[in-house]
Amino acid sequence: QSQELSQVQIDYNAALQTLVEDGTRMVCTGRMHTDRICRFESLCYSTEAEEFIYFHSNSSVMLPNLGSRRFQPALLDLSSVEDHNTQYFNFVELPAAALKYMPKPVFVPDIALITNRFNPDNLMHVFHDDLLPIYYTMQQFPDLDLEARLFFMEGWSEGVHFDLYKLLSNKQPLLREQLKSLGRLLCFTKSYVGLSKITTWYQYGFVQPQGPKANILVSGNEIRQFTKFMMEKLNISLEESSSEEYIVVFSRTINRLILNEAELILALAQEFQMKTITVSLEEHSFSDIVRLISNASMLVSMHGAQLVMSLFLPRGATVVELFPYAINPEHYTPYKTLATLPGMDLQYIAWQNTDREDTVTYPDRPWDQGGIAHLDKAEQERIIKSTEVPRHLCCRNPEWLFRAYQDTKVDIPSLIHVIRQTVKSKPGPKKQRWSGSLYPGKVRDAKCQASVQGTSEAKLVVSWQIPWNLKYLKDKTSFLK
Ligand code: UDP
Repeated sequence: QSQELSQVQIDYNAALQTLVEDGTRMVCTGRMHTDRICRFESLCYSTEAEEFIYFHSNSSVMLPNLGSRRFQPALLDLSSVEDHNTQYFNFVELPAAALKYMPKPVFVPDIALITNRFNPDNLMHVFHDDLLPIYYTMQQFPDLDLEARLFFMEGWSEGVHFDLYKLLSNKQPLLREQLKSLGRLLCFTKSYVGLSKITTWYQYGFVQPQGPKANILVSGNEIRQFTKFMMEKLNISLEESSSEEYIVVFSRTINRLILNEAELILALAQEFQMKTITVSLEEHSFSDIVRLISNASMLVSMHGAQLVMSLFLPRGATVVELFPYAINPEHYTPYKTLATLPGMDLQYIAWQNTDREDTVTYPDRPWDQGGIAHLDKAEQERIIKSTEVPRHLCCRNPEWLFRAYQDTKVDIPSLIHVIRQTVKSKPGPKKQRWSGSLYPGKVRDAKCQASVQGTSEAKLVVSWQIPWNLKYLKDKTSFLK
């Protein structure tokens, strides 16, 4: 992949003349800043001011033309996280005539998708906030094809999962810092700004405690179209079911540990008569993890971002999420919500440690690793005595962090018991089948006939033609499911 901007040759003088004469043209979709994506011609960016610039001229277009409402609070969200005040996009305005006095523009010939990553070091955020939304934003606009270039404006460095972002297009994504080396004034020939939120299923608790989004619009089918694309890019072929069935334990090695992992693995293997293997982000390549998970019958893991890899599980598989002491599984459901999306066809099971003896706490660690030593004594004591973290807002609640970063000795009999309540025989992938729902077309020729027979009897006959699409369906009961 080449780092330079231009494979496409552009006529510099013609491009400059177009910019000066036509100015910036913007047409957006969406009624509010939270659902808006804008398409621009000749949107510019000052790498010194770190601001986007809209140039007015005789041919410039600005739709919507919001006037001062453009700042209430912004034109649009640059990330898929709704209305987050660190993720707003806006531009400054200048007459195109000002270009005479400005640095010579450098033109970006690639069609650009300009956006923010939300938290590129956390795998849940990477998939949920960035990769899926970018993938489906690109599906929404035909010119955002594999030759488009991604521009990440949030200001982070590449981050540990940058290779995943690179899979979405054939061109190397560029970061805000790298733009400086391209020039003082960049002008994007054609660009899209913003990100579709249509695939997101979770809100992280910025205004109300975290939970599933109110109006989820994505189903397992779209999730799996995305994972299929990612697996093709990673050169992982979906093996056919023939091979041996197995369980994957996804472990964390730095914090929130399972203290008796060996015992857990033996117990799972014995109970389900299946090979049981461990993976971790520290010890396995991403491709290897995807390859293993995409054929697994069951995925077992502590609550944490690594569980977003359930995206790659085959239909019919089981997700077992382990929660440390005092953390109510019902209050933290990003992975439950994912596993139970319509059409994901996964079984979800939560287990919580309810035994204080089986937890190891770290009160003396730094606050961001769950330490509480910086709090006053009474508050420390209250936290230590508490049996459940009360619902809270994101992201720095010390009681939550304290409990989230505990290590846990898993009580094997109680875990096997809750799994067995759901998984009766062997867990395992089901035959792949289409499981979308079908809805009948409208009823036609509805008729209502009343007739009176004598003085004591009346009849009402209601008749109708079957919906038009029903006659093409072999299994007519599928409407009823
Ligand atoms: N992580 C990991 N092993 C560990 C601790 C963290 O792989 O022992 C990963 C985790 O999956 C996530 C990132 O590091 O992608 C940040 O973890 P953090 O605990 O901050 O977030 P959480 O998992 O609670 O969302």
